[in-house]
Amino acid sequence: MKKNDKLMLIDAETREKLIETARQARNWAYAPYSHYAVGAALLTTGGRIYDGVNIENAAFPTGICAERVAIFKAVSEGEREFSTIVVMTDNGGTPCGSCRQVMAEFGLSTQVLVVDTTGKVHMDTTVEGLLPRAFRPEDLL
Ligand SMILES: [Zn+2]
Repeated sequence: MKKNDKLMLIDAETREKLIETARQARNWAYAPYSHYAVGAALLTTGGRIYDGVNIENAAFPTGICAERVAIFKAVSEGEREFSTIVVMTDNGGTPCGSCRQVMAEFGLSTQVLVVDTTGKVHMDTTVEGLLPRAFRPEDLL
């Protein structure tokens, strides 16, 4: 098991902080086409939090999801190990396949919390729970 495949549990205070971060970030979602605003908050194993929002585009396929924005922001600053990601939508929608694959790149045991805008947790799982038998970096060896 790789270091970043260890499950790290967060306390209630951290969980609330992540949910609030996702809620605040969601206000910055750029979703003029779908009107489906998404906010994400990603906690690194070192304790830093990166937020993200979905960013749509008139050329639809070039948009990107909130989860990947948060992960790419973190990775672009040297982060590689993540504890938890919170994803907030109106209705508790779950991460898309592309986001699941990007999450799997950095560890199957990252906790994934799917919440709605009331803060209700619709899903508390791991990346492995979202994407069983994921294609991983070691599969290329
Ligand atoms: Zn996605």
